Amino acid sequence: MKRIVILGAGESGTGAAILAKKEGFDTFISDSSTIKDKYKELLNQHRIAWEEGNHTEEFILNADEVIKSPGIPNNAPIIMKLKAKNISIISEIEFAGRYTKAKMICVTGSNGKTTTTSLIYHIFKSAGKNVGLAGNIGKSLALQVAEDKHDYYIIELSSFQLDNMYKFRANIAVLMNITPDHLDRYDNNFQNYINAKFRITQNQTPDDSFIFWNDDPIIKKELEKHGIKAKLYPFAAAKENDAIAYVEDNEVNITEPTAFNMEEEELALTGQHNLYDSLAAGISANVSGITKENIRQALSDFEGIEHRLEKVARVRGIDFINDSKATNVNSCWYALQSMKTKTVLILGGKDKGNDYSEIADLVHQKCSALVFLGLHNEKLHQFFGDFGLPIADIQTGMKDAVDASYKLAKKGETVLLSPCCASFDLFNSYEDRGDQFKNYVRHL
Ligand code: ADP
Repeated sequence: MKRIVILGAGESGTGAAILAKKEGFDTFISDSSTIKDKYKELLNQHRIAWEEGNHTEEFILNADEVIKSPGIPNNAPIIMKLKAKNISIISEIEFAGRYTKAKMICVTGSNGKTTTTSLIYHIFKSAGKNVGLAGNIGKSLALQVAEDKHDYYIIELSSFQLDNMYKFRANIAVLMNITPDHLDRYDNNFQNYINAKFRITQNQTPDDSFIFWNDDPIIKKELEKHGIKAKLYPFAAAKENDAIAYVEDNEVNITEPTAFNMEEEELALTGQHNLYDSLAAGISANVSGITKENIRQALSDFEGIEHRLEKVARVRGIDFINDSKATNVNSCWYALQSMKTKTVLILGGKDKGNDYSEIADLVHQKCSALVFLGLHNEKLHQFFGDFGLPIADIQTGMKDAVDASYKLAKKGETVLLSPCCASFDLFNSYEDRGDQFKNYVRHL
């Protein structure tokens, strides 16, 4: 009997273990920290051997194949040892892909993955398709495959998942954009990260589709290099050569394979970046044969996802928007760009080597005040100090930041939490930061 060892017993690892057991492998799962109770229960139910708090080498180095959680870096000692023994290391998605004939619609990119994946899922679900959501969001793909659930899977793929994918074939691959990110895991070499993203197209055939943002300078430059066999579906904000989807005269157009159009105004998600996400989702659905009516309806009634330009409340004529997921400067740029009124911007947190010059023009144009929320706001003062805007410096927590923004904002203005930074100095996660924001806003 072949032995499969799974490293990391979270959502994806536990699902992979259940599928491996079902397919008749000698299965073992190991997590170097504590395994959550709900996963332990599932593993016990399926009689799968597990360990926590340690990676015991004698139980791991005898594997025929290893399924690695995307969170474990390639230079972790146990991974180095497996590599030295030439043991194949794959991702949960690669493994699950072997046991299903469902159509795979996969989304990657530096920004916009979750939004686009959720939007595609919403269109398919609204159109009555038997569809599952997987990858970084939703349930483990392997678990859903083990339960033989769906005809289509919409899968959000990070570069880390793509790193350990080899034979997996995406029937539809979507690449939103590529900007430098996670370089610490790619030997500080941007090209390595780019190559990881393009792995989404490997194994595609001429029957498959590759949907991508046509104006991304990196994608454009790299396109030729990767020998892509799939049919290309480039999209852009405005009509231009090559692009098969764009906005013209306030109308969203998708020209292939089936002509589609709708008023831009009817899109549920507003702002330039969300337009890209809507275009990519609309093309994916169009290519899959979903009707124009269904696509139009779903793109206009999508309710958005938490912590991404999420409308919270209007208090005394002031709109509050939670964009806590904006953990880099680029996503804050898109948020500011979509603001229709003067804005009090709450930003700050754990700086990842940010260069704020990217948002300087938009701050001049759109902001009426700034609230710095972080334990160390010196860099923000240095950069924005001479912009001539009122500034509140908050080092205590979200309640004081919300109170300060409420005092600074005038009727008709917007308060936007779009921090440009990670949350770990004052919060547990970006979700915790966004939840606290919403809570204090609702109590104003
Ligand atoms: P990801 O899953 O790739 O992190 P999300 O959909 O969670 O992406 O969005 C992360 C942040 O990026 C949010 O602040 C969102 O407003 C912004 N964003 C969404 N789509 C795009 C896009 N196409 N380009 C740039 N930024 C985007």
